[in-house]
Amino acid sequence: MPIDATQPYDDQNIFAKILRGEIPSTKLYEDEWAYAFPDINPQAELHVLVIPKGAYVSWDDFSARASDEEIAGFIRAVGAVARQHDLVEPGYRLLANIGSHGGQEVPHLHVHLFGKQPLGPMIAR
Ligand code: 5GP
Repeated sequence: MPIDATQPYDDQNIFAKILRGEIPSTKLYEDEWAYAFPDINPQAELHVLVIPKGAYVSWDDFSARASDEEIAGFIRAVGAVARQHDLVEPGYRLLANIGSHGGQEVPHLHVHLFGKQPLGPMIAR
């Protein structure tokens, strides 16, 4: 079920539990600001989720409330994950779903990183 992007942060969401180690995940990258792990239901040859360590519901919440340090740290981490997987050439795709029209299901900001194959049209029609 898509979420309401204006809802308050729920620290029982599945990614909060992954960050706390209460639900297992395979660590692909971690630094002070971000954590990356494979999507449980991959939509491409490579499908990684990158999440900030802070408690933010969505890109909207993050861009409005996070500190400049957190934002810089998270954005740099996303780039680092892509480089770690040798994706810069031939390229990759980032996606952040926000709220119900975006189809966001987990209420902790996450950037999907897709790669290792041609990714087709930007939006299904
Ligand atoms: P959204 O639709 O919110 O942008 O994407 C949520 C993503 O989280 C989906 O692609 C889904 O497969 C993934 N996901 C949901 N639960 C889990 C989980 O417990 N572990 C992992 N690794 N991914 C999950």
